[in-house]
Amino acid sequence: MSPSTVRVVIVGASYAGASAARTLSSIKLNDDTNVQITLVERRDHYFHSIGALHGAVFPRFSKRLFVPYDRLMGSNVSHISSLSSPSSSRTSSTKENINSNDDDDVSTSSTKIENKHVTICSELVETHPDHVVLKNNMKVPFDYLVLATGSDNNSPAKTSSLKKEDGMQELKGFNDEVEKAKSILIIGGGGAGVELAGEIGAKYNTTGNAKDSSAIKKKIVLAHSRNKLVGEHLSEAFTKDLKCKLKNLGVEVVLNERLDLPPDIVFDNKVNTRVLKTLSGREFNSDLQVCTIGNRINTKYLETLELAVDAAAAAAAAKDLDSVSSLHLVDPTTNMINILPTMQLANPAFPHIFAPGDVNNRSKVEKKASYAYGHGQVAAKNIEIMIRAGFHNVRSSGDKAAIKQLLESLSLKKCRNPINGAKIPLGPKMGTAEFCGITFSGVIGNFIMWLGNGEDYKLSRTLSLLGYSPKELS
Ligand SMILES: Cc1cc2nc3c(=O)[nH]c(=O)nc-3n(C[C@H](O)[C@H](O)[C@H](O)COP(=O)(O)OP(=O)(O)OC[C@H]3O[C@@H](n4cnc5c(N)ncnc54)[C@H](O)[C@@H]3O)c2cc1C
Repeated sequence: MSPSTVRVVIVGASYAGASAARTLSSIKLNDDTNVQITLVERRDHYFHSIGALHGAVFPRFSKRLFVPYDRLMGSNVSHISSLSSPSSSRTSSTKENINSNDDDDVSTSSTKIENKHVTICSELVETHPDHVVLKNNMKVPFDYLVLATGSDNNSPAKTSSLKKEDGMQELKGFNDEVEKAKSILIIGGGGAGVELAGEIGAKYNTTGNAKDSSAIKKKIVLAHSRNKLVGEHLSEAFTKDLKCKLKNLGVEVVLNERLDLPPDIVFDNKVNTRVLKTLSGREFNSDLQVCTIGNRINTKYLETLELAVDAAAAAAAAKDLDSVSSLHLVDPTTNMINILPTMQLANPAFPHIFAPGDVNNRSKVEKKASYAYGHGQVAAKNIEIMIRAGFHNVRSSGDKAAIKQLLESLSLKKCRNPINGAKIPLGPKMGTAEFCGITFSGVIGNFIMWLGNGEDYKLSRTLSLLGYSPKELS
């Protein structure tokens, strides 16, 4: 490795990680410093989650949800995969080091990557202050790290499959079960539950007239434990408009009813006729039950770093030093990463580690692709500023006073404050929007939804981020 190579590792390549990778891969430095990006993503294709529920109900769209990563960082890129996927240039299951000069016992062989950037299809399992360890046992050292691992949702909102073919099969399988079911219970009236109800209603029950019961092909019930749909931060008028539009799509919305679910119940998205009761004793008989609750933040890989922080803090306290903060990296109640508005970890021991997107502890309002994209850009811009200032060299010198002084002198970018609001599509032609407490209902809501998502659920924007045009992957 040339001494002027700066190593940036980005983990997670969805809205936040891809935007960071795209922004950083286009920076031009004046000196001979070479920025090498290693992008680690467990999926073999980008998954366009904004269109997931539409694709799960209208299978023609599902194949378009998976986009290759090969153009994201330009053409000078090596691809390494530990999945047996035809799109990978080679497979790897051995323990490997990327451009690492040290002899840590995690690695048993060393692979020199000559290309400028690298994408690795594997999963991050351990994080350390200067390197990460992947599921395929690769150890990847870094000067700067971007953790953009977002969250997982129950299928079909996000597929659990890592390979494109399996993901398409998963969405098709879901659609087959919806086809078979005469009655469907959707559990949870968050964004995913409401959207799914709208998609199924739009496909099977479209009447435009709530009184035309002959057009109702599927009985759909959406059960929600709270009195507002989507989020408590939204108005009652927002819920009212959604309820009215869902009714026109043949969806019965039941609010303030929490299902009393047996602890061993499994929702596998397969037809299974059963009766579920709410805590108040109300019964729902359905052929298919889809559970949309339970968003899981992906931060398990930070346990190693958290342990290191705790150990260092204990040692520092024992010596009565103030050098290491024990500030939790991850909020123990939400599992989200505590960050500063600059996207750096809030713990001052790690100014070189960033966490943009859904994975961080910014507000619920900010859990959107558009904000994740902006977070990724802020992280990338700040890494650029730090690279230009030679922060990585100062940090590797270990001179704490110099590190602090340099950090304080930098004008790092901060993410913008979010606008309170939401836009929820109900099938391709309807939706409700709200911004700053103003609800756009009726046909205006439908129009705003169409304006925001287009007919392709913002796919063309994602394609352009990944270097493709809509025609190429239609
Ligand atoms: C059904 C649905 C509809 C939505 N509709 C909209 C909408 O219309 N508009 C909007 O703005 N937002 C929408 N959202 C929200 C939006 O999708 C999220 O805010 C956005 O995906 C967050 O992006 P992210 O990059 O932070 O994380 P994610 O999209 O969650 O991506 C995280 C990435 O990291 C990878 N990863 C995770 N863990 C690891 C690991 N350990 N190692 C390697 N890789 C890992 C994952 O495979 C994934 O690719 C919707 C979400 C859903 C589920």
